[in-house]
Amino acid sequence: MFYIGCHLSVSDGYAAMGKTALSIGANTFQYFTRNPRGRGFKRPDAEDIAALTAFMQEHNFAPPLAHAPYTLNPASEVDRIRDYTREAMAEDISVLEEIPGALYNFHPGAHVGIGVQAGIANVAQTLNIVMKEDQRTTLLIETMAGKGTELGRNFEEVRGIIDGVDPALRSHVGVCLDTCHISDGGYDIAGETDAVLEEFDRIIGIDRLRAVHLNDSKNPVGAAKDRHEKIGEGFLGLAGITKIINHPMLRDLPFYLETPNELDGYAQEIALLRSQRTGE
Ligand SMILES: [Zn+2]
Repeated sequence: MFYIGCHLSVSDGYAAMGKTALSIGANTFQYFTRNPRGRGFKRPDAEDIAALTAFMQEHNFAPPLAHAPYTLNPASEVDRIRDYTREAMAEDISVLEEIPGALYNFHPGAHVGIGVQAGIANVAQTLNIVMKEDQRTTLLIETMAGKGTELGRNFEEVRGIIDGVDPALRSHVGVCLDTCHISDGGYDIAGETDAVLEEFDRIIGIDRLRAVHLNDSKNPVGAAKDRHEKIGEGFLGLAGITKIINHPMLRDLPFYLETPNELDGYAQEIALLRSQRTGE
């Protein structure tokens, strides 16, 4: 089954996202757990979440990808930021426990001068504090482009975070591969797909890979920029993206578009990608 969806707004609630996804040809979707720029948290309505869950089962959806707000920084040493990050992640996980198989994607954050190793240790400690052994939600470390002091810029840094997680909690940690970010980070995922995925497998382990952010890039390999482009209109190109969605190491994972589009643009991209998919 080809699981493909895009980023949707949560503003009309959870059940509404399922219906919107279906209306544009998607069978999964991503959303922000809360306003990425704002603070304050209102727990979502349990009935709304239950309605979404039933709808997703009825229509054979892959679980949604909940994206943590950008304002979090799990790598921070600053008390105020660290406390807010922990509180928000723990709240988000407690909501996601209501959605079977939910995936919770987060940015590892920026070390802001304390150094890569100290930053990585802080991210791992954050995970050890916010996770519980008996949780059902899987947390996904997103691969980043490497702007500024951003962590997760290469597979070694992602592996370092996982290694710092308590072994009793490690089964709840996976990775979300962002095709634009890793290309901007220096991995030629569109051109050298096999070699990049073999490197991922060697350093992190392919079984940790649970989701793909499918984005083209406005910039060439290694630009360290992080500017998403529409599918087929950037440096990855349609041929590269087609290889990615059909690759045996990736094809069974859910793909989530974060391309610069409104709903009709996403509908067109999903139709295009479905037409490029082999063996369905
Ligand atoms: Zn992200």
